[in-house]
Amino acid sequence: MAASDDPPTETAEQAAFRAEARAFLEAHAEPRAEADPWDVIGFPDDDEALAHFEKCRAWQRTLADHGWAGLTWPVEYGGRGLEAWANRIFAEESAQFGSNAGFVWASMAMLGPTLMALGTEEQKVRYLPPMLRADETWCQLFSEPGAGSDLAGLATRAVVDGDEFVVDGQKVWNSSAQFCNRGFLLVRTDPDAPKHQGISFLLVDMSSPGVEVRPLVQANGSAHFNEVFLTGVRIPVANLVGEANGGWNPARMVLGNEASFIGGSDGGRRTSDRLIDLARLYGRQDDPVVRQELVRAYSRERIVGLMGRRMRDIARRGGLPPFDPALMKVFVTDSKVHTGQVATAIAGPAGMAAMADDDQVSRWVQAEVINRFTISIGGGTTEVQKNNLGERSLGLPREPRSDKDVPWKDVPRS
Ligand SMILES: Cc1cc2nc3c(=O)[nH]c(=O)nc-3n(C[C@H](O)[C@H](O)[C@H](O)COP(=O)(O)OP(=O)(O)OC[C@H]3O[C@@H](n4cnc5c(N)ncnc54)[C@H](O)[C@@H]3O)c2cc1C
Repeated sequence: MAASDDPPTETAEQAAFRAEARAFLEAHAEPRAEADPWDVIGFPDDDEALAHFEKCRAWQRTLADHGWAGLTWPVEYGGRGLEAWANRIFAEESAQFGSNAGFVWASMAMLGPTLMALGTEEQKVRYLPPMLRADETWCQLFSEPGAGSDLAGLATRAVVDGDEFVVDGQKVWNSSAQFCNRGFLLVRTDPDAPKHQGISFLLVDMSSPGVEVRPLVQANGSAHFNEVFLTGVRIPVANLVGEANGGWNPARMVLGNEASFIGGSDGGRRTSDRLIDLARLYGRQDDPVVRQELVRAYSRERIVGLMGRRMRDIARRGGLPPFDPALMKVFVTDSKVHTGQVATAIAGPAGMAAMADDDQVSRWVQAEVINRFTISIGGGTTEVQKNNLGERSLGLPREPRSDKDVPWKDVPRS
């Protein structure tokens, strides 16, 4: 049976593929944890965080070993060479189960299509198959203490020495870098060029001498992010992706891919389902105002799902985004703000404080409110995305830029 609400317009081939996917998932995936629908992902200690990461990795490996990873990736790089519908059907079926590859999948979705589009043949053959099987896991080494929204202002230096780059600098907010054995890294290779034109994109082995990963402990006690210090790190020139000093191109592709998966899974109606359960739990299901907001949450979730599906289908084929990825990012963030508001409106004081130690429902409501910040900052802040939308999609005047055409080394920095 189709998992989506779409009318049954599948071909016989697609229906057979769906049945095959369902059979694989029933045999290998975890059933969705019905016992605790209010479970919140959060890791109070490093062991739990590592265990979760390894679980994601193991699931990705299971997918690869049974031919369910990289469905649309070319066969020569370990994929199955199928069309975009295969990803959609598999995502719909997977949404009925608890297993997912989490961060491992996310970093693969950022880097995989970028390597396929801009990597050398040697890089594709070397890196894509172990990426698909999660034998090698990848972290993003972009942000720096002085370069987040203004990413192109980054200062980590790389100079060529023989057939290697020698890298010195610091990165920050690097998700799961403490667990990954590879990283994709932006470095400044030409300080005399304007800031966007002197950047290169490198692939780094995280076990290289001179790479130091320091976890950043958050207020809730978990260490999702890291600082990564790079001191005299030697990276083969063969690990350059794209042109030297042309790293802004693959960087933009990674950021575009990142926006394309932010919309969540194709089959996902999970937040609106939970909001409906919450309304029932608090006896608010007949309140006309609550009902109106529940419908709004459901509608937005469907819109995000459809936007994400379209974006992902095209990105996986290496095509250009069908609409500005910033639009998706802003819409998803607004939706998260909305669901947090609806959850607190339904739960009342329980949305602010847990009523008991084992009050999972209140914790879920609070996480729903707090998680808006994860989405509104990660992958580019809402303010910056709105600037992008205004300039790129609406044709509004660009923000004044004092650093245009100025060599990066002459741009004032804090
Ligand atoms: C959950 C999460 C995961 C992340 N994972 C990674 C990762 O794996 N790898 C990585 O490299 N980075 C990662 N980041 C970092 C993220 O990319 C940066 O935090 C983000 O780009 C913002 O940069 P910043 O923190 O330096 O803030 P700043 O750029 O200093 O911004 C501070 C404030 O100023 C506003 N602002 C800045 N410029 C403008 C402007 N031109 N117009 C209007 N307002 C502006 C911003 O919107 C923000 O409110 C992650 C962040 C989060 C939250």
